[in-house]
Amino acid sequence: MMTHRMWFLIFVITVSSQLSAQDVYVINSQYPVHQLQPYLKIIKDTSDTLTYKDLLKDTSLVYAIQDETIPHLAIGEVYWGKIVINSPQPLKDWTLNLEDRLIGGPAWVKSNGKVDVYAVTDGSLIFHKKTGVEYPNVDRDLSRHWVLNTVSLHDLPPHKPITLLIRIQGNSLGFPPYFNATIRSPEQAYYHEIFAFNNGFNLFMFGVTFIIFLYHLLQFIYLRQKIFLWFSIWLSFCTLTMAMSVGLIIGDIYNFRLPFWMLIANGVLYSFWFFGRSFINSKEKFPQLDKVIVGLSIAMITEIIIMALYIVFFNPKPYTTGVGIHYKLIIIYACISIVLSINLMLKKDQFARYFGVGAIIVSIAFTLGGFWSEGVIRLPFDPYAWGIFFQIVIYSFGIAYRQRALLLKSQEEKLHAQKTYAEMLRIKEINEVKTLFYTNISHEFRTPLTLIAGPLDKAHKSSDPDSDEVTISKSSFGIINRNTHRLQHLIDQLLELSKIESGQIHLNLMQGGLVDFIKSITFSFESIAESKNISLNTSFPKALQQAFYDKDKLEKIISNLLSNAFKYTPEGGVVTLTLDLTDSHYILEVSDTGKGMSKEEMKRIFERFYRVEGTEEKGTGIGLALTKEMVDLQKGQISVSSLKDLGTTFKVRIPYTLELLPEHISFFTKNKVTAPRLAQEINGLVINGETYNTDLPPIDGDKNLPVLLLVEDNPDLRIYISDILKGHYKIVIAEDGLKGERMGIEHIPDIILTDIMMPKKDGYQLCNSLKSNPKTSHIPIVMLTAKGGQENRIEGLTQGADAYITKPFNAEELLLLVKNLIQTRAKMWEHFNSLNLSIVNDIDLVSIEDKFLQSVLSVIRNNLDNESLSVEDLAKEVGFSRAQLHRKLKALCDKSPNQLIVEIRLNEAMVMLEKKIGSVSEVAYSVGYSNLSYFTKRFKEKFNVLPSRV
Ligand code: ATP
Ligand code: MG
Repeated sequence: MMTHRMWFLIFVITVSSQLSAQDVYVINSQYPVHQLQPYLKIIKDTSDTLTYKDLLKDTSLVYAIQDETIPHLAIGEVYWGKIVINSPQPLKDWTLNLEDRLIGGPAWVKSNGKVDVYAVTDGSLIFHKKTGVEYPNVDRDLSRHWVLNTVSLHDLPPHKPITLLIRIQGNSLGFPPYFNATIRSPEQAYYHEIFAFNNGFNLFMFGVTFIIFLYHLLQFIYLRQKIFLWFSIWLSFCTLTMAMSVGLIIGDIYNFRLPFWMLIANGVLYSFWFFGRSFINSKEKFPQLDKVIVGLSIAMITEIIIMALYIVFFNPKPYTTGVGIHYKLIIIYACISIVLSINLMLKKDQFARYFGVGAIIVSIAFTLGGFWSEGVIRLPFDPYAWGIFFQIVIYSFGIAYRQRALLLKSQEEKLHAQKTYAEMLRIKEINEVKTLFYTNISHEFRTPLTLIAGPLDKAHKSSDPDSDEVTISKSSFGIINRNTHRLQHLIDQLLELSKIESGQIHLNLMQGGLVDFIKSITFSFESIAESKNISLNTSFPKALQQAFYDKDKLEKIISNLLSNAFKYTPEGGVVTLTLDLTDSHYILEVSDTGKGMSKEEMKRIFERFYRVEGTEEKGTGIGLALTKEMVDLQKGQISVSSLKDLGTTFKVRIPYTLELLPEHISFFTKNKVTAPRLAQEINGLVINGETYNTDLPPIDGDKNLPVLLLVEDNPDLRIYISDILKGHYKIVIAEDGLKGERMGIEHIPDIILTDIMMPKKDGYQLCNSLKSNPKTSHIPIVMLTAKGGQENRIEGLTQGADAYITKPFNAEELLLLVKNLIQTRAKMWEHFNSLNLSIVNDIDLVSIEDKFLQSVLSVIRNNLDNESLSVEDLAKEVGFSRAQLHRKLKALCDKSPNQLIVEIRLNEAMVMLEKKIGSVSEVAYSVGYSNLSYFTKRFKEKFNVLPSRV
């Protein structure tokens, strides 16, 4: 039945002499490999209908033996092979192999698609086993490499003739089927040496690649650097390719094995370039070259995708139609890669060079691979796998090397940035200190300068214009003299400070006479002590001849401490100086029973220009700063302890041996000890300041002069300003802001002149509180300031100051300003008065003044018919004292309260009469006049018309 459906192809038959009479091949297990090919009887199953049973039973089938003259079986046909074997020994671990002679490059493409092996003995089936690349892994007998056509003969019984029936079907990609059957012992399991080696190598490579891939993927996850991502992507292609090479994956997706292999294995060819780009940072460093790299890679990707799609949709048979063009393209691509790599190697960039070396090795490997796959060359190794291997080694080291290089660089940069930042901060700090310093300095200079320039100016003006001489009064001279000294002292101290700062200062050491020297400085303060009625106690040790010290610096230290002690101790107090010696240091203690300081104040006294509140005019605040610098210069220490209102102690400890003094700035001269200058000379102004008579000039008695309140803490300035204003104003003086405020409310002056920096309450605070008090709000306030800065003016003006005058000012300027301000005040009333007084009710009143006037007016108007409305009543109603009300009304409208009451009564009467609200007597009565003739008289006086005529 079946025979007529079959076509037989008959080969030339060569019967081997090795076969026994029964056509049984006896397996001698001493020989590890047995070639079955010459004995295998084959038959073509064109219609694919035969079963193994047919082959066993159907005696009509005609078999042939495959000869060398016909090396290939027909593509697309199914063949059966038949052989009887007998093995005297058990075939433990032996295999039956169909050997692929074409194995090489992509071996998996060429292997048999489906192979079925049946073993029959005594008419019964021992096994049916499957192998071949088109059977899924699960169906195949041996899970050895998926490419190999291998089944195990393990379970064949010995000493029995066994018929092996082998069905082969060619590869669906267009490769011919083949038998090349061998039986192999485990020692010779691989028929192909290269394959045997490569498989081991590929397994190793698979492991290595996978681990390196994982490592770099983790690096990317933690560090989030692109370079690790690209390296991981490339490694993932490598890992997958290696996995397929060792027989994984493909066996499970045998239907798509070609496009899948194409996409993955070829990914290795281009993805390393993307890694290279971030390795080199070529986008920034070599933008041109970078474009070439991207272009080349994209071309490769496109080619691969097109090829994969072509395979999927057109199902080409590579063996016959030859997708071999793919390998030709790979060769071209790899050659261009070589050129590119050489280009990189020649760059003057460490990373480009490094990457270039790796790239050239792999590009050469890929070129070889292309030729190998094309079958142009034969190689004893897999060039792709080896290329990848070298690449992984080189780039793994490369990436570590690069990270390290970058780390070092970034550390360097960080350090540099830190340095720059620190430098920037330092400069900023210096600038701030400088600005503060200049502000302070200018403040310190302006006050004495004003006090020198003012009296001189005045003297000049009051002198006889025809005379050559200018006469200065004694008090003016006193002021000028003191302030000149003060400037001198200030400048000396500043110079000293700047010398220390610029490192120009040295220690001029001398030896001997330390105790005597300190004694002489101390006793030079005796006269001051006497004049201030302060007792000066001292305690000195025995003379010490070997001590080294710097006379000048020591004198400054002691003088500053003592002059402070005398300055800040009231009459009847005690100042004590004690000197103690140790083996290496002398310890000076200056204590007093003076005003003392709080903890906060103590913290700041060594700062330049710092003065405790309330002591501002006694000094410039440099003395202690300089003292500390001097002590530090000699590697000494200075400390202070103080209790508020009880006293202060300064303690200074300075070394006197050459070893302990700073060597590099010290000079030793054998000078004679000269007597120190007089303390008065050194601290002249400060001490004189205390004894100078600061009594205020008598207040001018003239009642008609406007009253001016001067708030100023500097006694000299008080005298100077009073001198200018004397005769024009009645002057009231307050020494600080608090007193100023009190006196302002008490006297309601016509104008206030105030300093800004003052103890207790400064000028701004004073201004603010007076301006918000209805009793004093109308008083113009002029601020006197040494600080000429814009902010200070703005601050003052926002607090309501009416004008500013900057020290040093000139007398005329001050007089003019004050005069103008008082006049402006009068004009304001004119403006208010010009509004119809009867309708002011409806006017939106904003200013405190207007509101005040409004309340006064409404009190009067509400009491129009109250004839007995007194000024006291009115004052009480608006919350003022009689005198305050008087002064405020006088200032605002130049009218006494009484005058204002009368004026309003009459104004109202006028309005009523005009509106004809009643008869003259009725109107007179309703505006508080019971006496009609008196009303008529006042009315006539004011409006120049008789009420009856209106
Ligand atoms: P200068 O010394 O420059 O003429 P000054 O005496 O005001 O001016 P420092 O000697 O630096 O400046 O002193 C700073 C501040 O410390 C002083 O303004 C003063 O308020 C306070 N002070 C210094 N010595 C004493 C002391 N013995 N008792 C109380 N306060 C003191
Ligand atoms: Mg001082």
